[in-house]
Amino acid sequence: MIAISASKIICDFADPASDIVNGTVLVDGDQIISLEGPNWQGETAQSINLPGRTVAPGLMDSHVHLAFDGTADPVGNMHQRDREQTAIQAERAARDLLLGGVTFVRDLGAPDRVALNLRDQIASKAITGPTVFSAGRPLTRPQGHCWFMGSEVHDAASAQSAVNTEVERGADLIKVMVTGGRMTPGTDPLGVELNEIALRFAVKEAHDLGRPVAAHALSAAGVLAAATAGVDTIEHGTLICSDPYAVQHTDADRRLRKRAIAAVIDYGTAISPTFSVPDAGTHPVTPQIRADWISTFHEAGVPVIAGTDSGINGHPHRGAAISGIRGLVAAGMTNSDALAAASGKGMVAAGRSAAGYLRPGFKAELIVLNDDPRRNLETVSAPAGVMVGGVYYQVVRHDNDNHHDQLVRITQ
Ligand SMILES: [Zn+2]
Repeated sequence: MIAISASKIICDFADPASDIVNGTVLVDGDQIISLEGPNWQGETAQSINLPGRTVAPGLMDSHVHLAFDGTADPVGNMHQRDREQTAIQAERAARDLLLGGVTFVRDLGAPDRVALNLRDQIASKAITGPTVFSAGRPLTRPQGHCWFMGSEVHDAASAQSAVNTEVERGADLIKVMVTGGRMTPGTDPLGVELNEIALRFAVKEAHDLGRPVAAHALSAAGVLAAATAGVDTIEHGTLICSDPYAVQHTDADRRLRKRAIAAVIDYGTAISPTFSVPDAGTHPVTPQIRADWISTFHEAGVPVIAGTDSGINGHPHRGAAISGIRGLVAAGMTNSDALAAASGKGMVAAGRSAAGYLRPGFKAELIVLNDDPRRNLETVSAPAGVMVGGVYYQVVRHDNDNHHDQLVRITQ
């Protein structure tokens, strides 16, 4: 058993009444056993004392690509790498995410078995990284968005069989490409690309097999199709219509956007807007417009969850978590709401249970910060320590050269 003691324990970002001053988190294996107050005097195999620090739930990035490198040309670079080099890239991405306090990710698209293998190696402690849920290979129309790593489907039978194949290969969830994407030439981000029947059968099959569905949807038409098909999370949800820059609006656009938002509310779909600040500036829709739409969803009570799309062009894994949380705050969420979207509340919406909060019986995934991030958000940019899989790592930082930051394993 490991005892981690700190000046403040934040059990739930959204519930300050559950904070413990001078508290201790007791961990056995990869689970939290109990949370103790200031007078706790027990004996444990190992004690970690962190005076002046704040311990909080580890962060989630609900949308990452571990096989991409976050440079200007992640797909081109991926095609240059052989299998072993791609695995090394994914391992580096996992470590970079953990250095930023991310203890849980959903990989929403990687070629072959890259993310599945990494997940298993992290689980067996051969590699250091966050807990991974992998969608395996995304389902897409023939030659559709990300076809080069995807599983191409065109009707009910091919969709059902593709879901079964991904689940048999070990996928924790299913990713469907409902619209085209900017990264894939020849696909249309403005319309709906996945055949509606294929989409519905994929969702039903995934749910029958106990797997949530994450849907890539940029256009309002795609958001509407995804929500009404019953997907669990909509990725991006940019709500573009006839104009890719979302500057010109026709009456038809306005009506379609309204219907899409209403469907998301009705079906209880969660939105993972993959909006980071500072944005690399490569997105055709302005940050202000994106922030406005995210805030429309949030104010309507739609669960907005933290995801960054880290790995795609201009979005490195290093520092992704804080950039994504800044994005949610820029869209009008409070620090507490944004942090909850990146931990417990977000994880529930993303289909993960018994994690994201510091509670007995929950996963021992936590971060150690220099301050309370609800009042000083930027403290999240430099965690002092992180625990995942029941192992505690101290983060050793090099102020002028963060590429040499290190995770030093403190517990066995
Ligand atoms: Zn993505």
